[in-house]
Amino acid sequence: MDESGYFAYSEDAKLLTPSIKNIRSPAILLNHLSRPTTLIINWEKIDTVLLDMDGTLLDLNFDNHFWQEFVPLTYAKQRGHSLTEAKTLLAPQFKKMEGQLEWYCLDYWSEALQLDIVGLKMEIAGLIAVLPHVVDFLEAIHQSSRTVLLVTNAHRNSLGLKMDKTCLNRFFDALISSHDYGYAKEHPAFWPLLQQQHPFDKQRTLLIDDSLAVLTAARQFGLEQLISISKPDSKRPKRVIEDFSAIEDFRELMKGL
Ligand SMILES: [Mg+2]
Repeated sequence: MDESGYFAYSEDAKLLTPSIKNIRSPAILLNHLSRPTTLIINWEKIDTVLLDMDGTLLDLNFDNHFWQEFVPLTYAKQRGHSLTEAKTLLAPQFKKMEGQLEWYCLDYWSEALQLDIVGLKMEIAGLIAVLPHVVDFLEAIHQSSRTVLLVTNAHRNSLGLKMDKTCLNRFFDALISSHDYGYAKEHPAFWPLLQQQHPFDKQRTLLIDDSLAVLTAARQFGLEQLISISKPDSKRPKRVIEDFSAIEDFRELMKGL
């Protein structure tokens, strides 16, 4: 399964209404005087940027389509089910692993479903797409002196496929898969392990991630600069994010960078 998956999105998805909540840190401010509400980052207070991949840099439409349509369709064909039957059979299997490392593990799903998950992903790899204005942002942050890490729950095979398709790897100091540590980013044990291998100052580190469960775990670890994505899937409506600051696209973070 990929970054934000089958059920996580549907639970979060609501129509957008402007929110002015959650002014948590001196580095992230919301400008309430302008309309629409804008986010202002004090980049002088940030020297490390942690970026999620699916739903943050890349359009979550690929993953949503893959797991919600393409896998059930292939499963249905292989087992002689209707598409509806296949979705009904798969839903509890997906639900059971939500938020766990297995959720993101292509080997696990290949075995559990008896499908070539990596091969299937390659079949529809043409749908992999970078979200709007991400490249401009990555170019700007790469040219600054900041450390920029890609921190994803994606399996290494999925990460490799997506970097091959998008060439975004050139912008990062390191590409980190939570599979290397044995804990998903939603798990409290992940964050100390990441900090141990890639030292960062909690007060001067910005995390951008579309997963609210991941942002919550990072907040509990002590990260203060946290931003979510209100439109991780280009084909779905914006979400209301109530517990974290959120951007619709990366133009909102370019000021002062
Ligand atoms: Mg994500």
